[in-house]
Amino acid sequence: ARKKLSKLKKTPAVTKDGTAITLLANIELPDDCGPALEAGANGVGLFRSEFLFMGRAANMPSEDEQFEQYRRAVVAMKGRPVTIRTLDIGADKPLDPTEHTALNPALGLRAIRYCLSEPQLFLTQLRAILRASAFGKVRILIPMLAHAFEIDQSLAMIEQAKAQLREANVKYDASVEVGAMIEIPAAALALPMFVRKMNFLSIGTNDLIQYTLAIDRVDYEVAHLYNPLHPAILQLISMTIAAGQKAGIDVAVCGEMAGDTKLTRLLLGMGLREFSMHPAQLLAVKQEILNSDLGAIAPLTRKILRSTDPDGIADAVLALQTS
Ligand code: PEP
Ligand code: MG
Repeated sequence: ARKKLSKLKKTPAVTKDGTAITLLANIELPDDCGPALEAGANGVGLFRSEFLFMGRAANMPSEDEQFEQYRRAVVAMKGRPVTIRTLDIGADKPLDPTEHTALNPALGLRAIRYCLSEPQLFLTQLRAILRASAFGKVRILIPMLAHAFEIDQSLAMIEQAKAQLREANVKYDASVEVGAMIEIPAAALALPMFVRKMNFLSIGTNDLIQYTLAIDRVDYEVAHLYNPLHPAILQLISMTIAAGQKAGIDVAVCGEMAGDTKLTRLLLGMGLREFSMHPAQLLAVKQEILNSDLGAIAPLTRKILRSTDPDGIADAVLALQTS
């Protein structure tokens, strides 16, 4: 029976056959933790830290200001994990919207590429995040990784930030986990590089679709080509989940696909156990999980993953919803 969604707030997200699913919230600012808790989130799966920076090119948030914002979110979540993504600036998230950027900003100096080119800015953010880790469970998530040296440099910078804090006698959680966003096809095709060095993965389907299908995610003229069910996208997602499972590390989806109830069963069937989404979508996804039976989903999902026929895939995804 379908209950009123708000009644599901405290109900654990467990499939009919007893598999527990973690439901996390995507937030932009610490105040979003209220709605996240209200929706019964198990934690924050994506804190888009760039929202503290956007429009502030001339007045960047200091380490203390950032620390205070991260700490607020961590305290608000009362011991639940808070996954803070390091600055994902550039392209659709400009630091200075008036500034003319590159011809192809989505392929330009953005996210981790930008941070590695501005080491002082990156270290400042990392120290602020690490300081907040003394107040709860913090995880660090690095966006737009593609190259092995970017993984190594990011980890080295985190170690450097820790060393600076130790030197200054400032507390942080030494066991803070570090994860990679899988949102560039090259990353999904080179997973051994990531699972060896990272504690967890989070699939950014918004950018993964943009880069795999070569369509600008903010260009309405190609919006009709933005298809999460393209067989290439499904393969990349499924491969990433499988690689994480094999390596024994958590894999989440934090792109829009995670909050789309039409896709919940498909993602469950691929083995996804962690979904991160806008708080407003969380209870509807939970309801879908409560009504799902992994045993019934598995054969249909296998069929979908074997198919290269877009109409067949769309029909099968519909059939999954009533399975
Ligand atoms: C994504 O790319 O799917 C994602 C979650 O990050 P953003 O939408 O902030 O780029
Ligand atoms: Mg992204």
